[in-house]
Amino acid sequence: MIPYGRQDINQADIDEVLAVLHSDFLTQGPKVPEFEAAVSHYVNCQFALATNSATSALHIACLALGVSCEDRVWTSVNSFVASSNCALYCGAQIDFIDIDPRTGNLSLVALETMLINAQKTNTLPKVVIPVHFAGQSCDMPTIHELSKRFGFAIIEDASHAIGGEYHQGKIGNCQYSDITVFSFHPVKIITTAEGGMAMTNKPELAEKMALFRSHGITKNPDLMSSTTLPPWYYEQQVLGYNYRMTELQACLGLSQLTRIDEYIQQRNSKAQCYNDALKNLPLKVLEVIYGKSAYHLYVIQLNDATRHLTVFNALRAAQIGVNLHYIPITKQPYYQQLDMTFTAHPHADDYYARAISIPLFPTMSDKDQQDVIQALTDILL
Ligand SMILES: *Cc1c(COP(=O)(O)O)cnc(C)c1O
Repeated sequence: MIPYGRQDINQADIDEVLAVLHSDFLTQGPKVPEFEAAVSHYVNCQFALATNSATSALHIACLALGVSCEDRVWTSVNSFVASSNCALYCGAQIDFIDIDPRTGNLSLVALETMLINAQKTNTLPKVVIPVHFAGQSCDMPTIHELSKRFGFAIIEDASHAIGGEYHQGKIGNCQYSDITVFSFHPVKIITTAEGGMAMTNKPELAEKMALFRSHGITKNPDLMSSTTLPPWYYEQQVLGYNYRMTELQACLGLSQLTRIDEYIQQRNSKAQCYNDALKNLPLKVLEVIYGKSAYHLYVIQLNDATRHLTVFNALRAAQIGVNLHYIPITKQPYYQQLDMTFTAHPHADDYYARAISIPLFPTMSDKDQQDVIQALTDILL
């Protein structure tokens, strides 16, 4: 089976992890801050907080922005459940924004309409979480303008998108947002096995996220309420978690980061190859209309939705590890039983009836890609 995504681990990665195993620190050593500094430098953002997953990074991002049971959070309906679960962890109400079917990203028209309606009923969101679907940035300058007009904060869920670009810089520079979150799960662009990171340019948000990441505890005397400090002293100031990344994960991330530009280039050239080869088949591919995509996913949408299941099964039978990103979050049983009403999302429903993610990863061989193209052609023509 050709998987839809796969990590690339080389000997250098393995050597780095082994070296950390022989070192003094398996956790809370020098590698985590080194990895944070390296990602900060790579995306050009001031502060970075490594975590044990993007899910925990999203959670501490919401907490740092003060999301509570009085608040509303909105995100894209076409995303992984973690994009909205983070708001539910904080007790907030959630609602979902429909997509632009060309890109799979949230629709600006849908977002603005929802905001105008919410303003009338005094139910504006505290935070909006745009998801950079498949690695392509949302139109952040426009979302940023809306945030000024309607007064919400922005967390970019860039789990798919480290290495991608806005028009004017790297995704994660937080030029148009408060916080950006990356995932380092093995199917994503670079991996630390499990792992994530929250980026911000705001020192007060960085400080709060650091607290929430590690039990709510600080050892920084400048932040403490007590003035006479014995040498053993530390303070728990808020109810935090243990969301820390280990040294093993951080050194793997550092090693992977040296190859990120190569990965993005390989993903883009393989995507281009699909674009050319699939042109005459009865399907649409996602368009990249904004910035440079990191191409975490390559998604096709069948013209004939009635053949969706048949085509999906035929590809799996041909040993092509296709997948579907995503089931609209509102269709999940957990979300359906919540006492919340969600905005309708006809474009995401239509997308869900047609979408299939086909294999795309840097080390996919040309032969494997040709096999995918051949299988699709045989099934669809
Ligand atoms: C993978 C993913 C997450 C969660 O990432 P983890 O590191 O596995 O916690 C969140 N949001 C999106 C859009 C994702 O694809």
